[in-house]
Amino acid sequence: MHTIIEPFRIKSVEPFAITTEDHRRRALAAAHWNLFALRAEDVMIDLLTDSGTGAMSARQWAAIMLGDESYAGSSSFFELEQVVRDLTGYRHVFPVHQGRAAERILFTLLVDRSKTVPNNAHFDTTRANIEFLGGTALDFPSAGASDFAHAAPFKGDIDLAALRTFLANAPVGAVPFGMMTITNNRMGGQPVSLANLRAAAAAYHGHGVPCFLDAARFAENAWLIKQREPGQQQRPLRDIAHELFRLADGCLISAKKDGLVNIGGILALNDDALAARVRELLILTEGFPTYGGLAGRDLAALAQGLREVLDEDYLAYREASARYLADALERLDVPIVKPAGLHAVYVDARALLPQIPPHELPGQALCCELYVRGGIRAVEIGTLMFGRSNPATGETVPAEADLVRLCLPRRVYTQSHVDWVVETFAQVVRDRARLRGLRIEEQPRYLRAFTAKLRPVAAPVGVANERSRP
Ligand SMILES: *Cc1c(COP(=O)(O)O)cnc(C)c1O
Repeated sequence: MHTIIEPFRIKSVEPFAITTEDHRRRALAAAHWNLFALRAEDVMIDLLTDSGTGAMSARQWAAIMLGDESYAGSSSFFELEQVVRDLTGYRHVFPVHQGRAAERILFTLLVDRSKTVPNNAHFDTTRANIEFLGGTALDFPSAGASDFAHAAPFKGDIDLAALRTFLANAPVGAVPFGMMTITNNRMGGQPVSLANLRAAAAAYHGHGVPCFLDAARFAENAWLIKQREPGQQQRPLRDIAHELFRLADGCLISAKKDGLVNIGGILALNDDALAARVRELLILTEGFPTYGGLAGRDLAALAQGLREVLDEDYLAYREASARYLADALERLDVPIVKPAGLHAVYVDARALLPQIPPHELPGQALCCELYVRGGIRAVEIGTLMFGRSNPATGETVPAEADLVRLCLPRRVYTQSHVDWVVETFAQVVRDRARLRGLRIEEQPRYLRAFTAKLRPVAAPVGVANERSRP
């Protein structure tokens, strides 16, 4: 058999309203053309993020009922601790309310203004938490990682030569720890190879620098190693995941991704002295170490999620879903970042809409059009999110690229939902010459993508095709 099917059936459904283009056009205007300002009930297919948006299994819901809500010594904590120890091999396991809490706690203990933290590419919150403490967050993406059209198997890898040069020249004590993000979210969810992680960890360790994994998508990374890295095809997935963790000295995990839960995170490490300091700080802000800002039921659901996520049938289905969308978009000549990862497909909006200059936000224009046409919510990762206003001239300095990310929540949407997305794209592609850009009317000083108010530069987006419908 060639068809890869969902290795689950649906037991509980969450209806959503099928809205009209007219309704969506009004909702978009009321949201000032910023999709973060939409009410979720006005969205039909929400591809904004894969973070905390997955569906839990029947066993996870059963675990919710079994969660132990004791303040101290909860049995759900000990269950989670055992699962994380078995998975990672790390001695000390701390639950936290989400990934960034783990970042804040670890970085507060190790980062100050004299410190620099290297990474293949820092995720937004990782970078922000380091910079907030006055430290420097450095990215070492591999050569070719930003060549979207080029399909290399491990575009998430760190640039080893650049990393080694940096470490050799760093003042003693300036690098408190090094990081590796698996999968590499900033570089399009691309995986890191075992060979690259092994070499990066050796480079860090050669300079006495511990290595921490930002391991939100460890299972997806392990799966892509098994698919793509020479010599790994016959290994049990759990072995590969275990080796990833064993190569490092600790990890930060946002459990909202491969933890298969809606909220939660983990900080795990081996260093006893550091763990003692983590414990103190954890009590200050997250709560007692046996619950870490989560309910006992959350701990129990997370333990079960971590047991499920390395299921090879699940990951084969997940890869097939992303590839199904990516292949269909390619058949429509939509330029995408290649190869497709597992958690999202990224569209190169600047290439798709060449008539819209970067300062008129081609990525956001595409997002708005997808919403009006199909009730789909995607997210712009481009000039709206990362562009800067030049304070001297007021001009927008474009981001490196204008991408649109179509994230795939775990175990949520079916193939016909994806077919709807593809049909919407077919319409957008057909009428793309008529799409116009947007300008920013109002923006905050930080993280403008979340709250900026926008306005179409010419005719409102989608107006040219008032009557068409996917
Ligand atoms: C989501 C994510 C984080 C932050 O985790 P939150 O749970 O959103 O706080 C950190 N790093 C990576 C790679 C992520 O994907």
